[in-house]
Amino acid sequence: MKELFLPPELSCEIGEIYDSMAAAYDEVAQDIGLTCEGCPDNCCDSYFLHHTYCEWAYLWEGIRALDDDRLDRIMQRAREYVTRSRLLIARGERPQLMCPLNEAGLCVLYGHRLMICRTHGVPAALIRPDGQHLRFPGCFRCQEVVAATYGTETDAPAMNRTILFQRLAQLESRLLGNRRGLLPKIKLTIAEMIVGGPPRDIKINQD
Ligand code: SF4
Ligand code: SF4
Repeated sequence: MKELFLPPELSCEIGEIYDSMAAAYDEVAQDIGLTCEGCPDNCCDSYFLHHTYCEWAYLWEGIRALDDDRLDRIMQRAREYVTRSRLLIARGERPQLMCPLNEAGLCVLYGHRLMICRTHGVPAALIRPDGQHLRFPGCFRCQEVVAATYGTETDAPAMNRTILFQRLAQLESRLLGNRRGLLPKIKLTIAEMIVGGPPRDIKINQD
């Protein structure tokens, strides 16, 4: 199967969506007074699963630009991550392992980091496609800041994830086109996206 590449215009667009996410995050973080500086935690060891081919393909655009030595190191860490996380899950535990793209506390592919990496931290609001309203309180440090500053949790500003998620979902639809529904649904860690190589396309019968 050949690789599923992001066409240049979609690659540009996902970059713009990611920039909008970062801007929306920064605005709320600034309002609340939340900063990751000096935080005793590092969220890059959180167990997150990712669901879109477009993000997977964009991540691989970044991976391809790495030099061989660095890629070897990342690949080695990613394999270890996959082995250890599967063992922990088999034991009924939620993995808490450092992302293979984190080196010395920093993200090696910061410009290509995924949506969850860009939205985790500040309070957020989301209207799901079924109309249900969800609100997320943010990370533990954010919750401490909010508790000390606002009367109730919902008085704090929240990042509006709805439009950003919709834009990403539309981009995913444009990338997959009539392959949507034929390609398997994905639920992968970043380590699995690295070890598994870039996303693969399927052959469509045009008849
Ligand atoms: S997102 Fe929150 S918990 Fe994570 S590093 Fe930043 S302040 Fe700390
Ligand atoms: S991709 Fe980067 S920001 Fe996201 S978890 Fe990995 S190291 Fe952290």
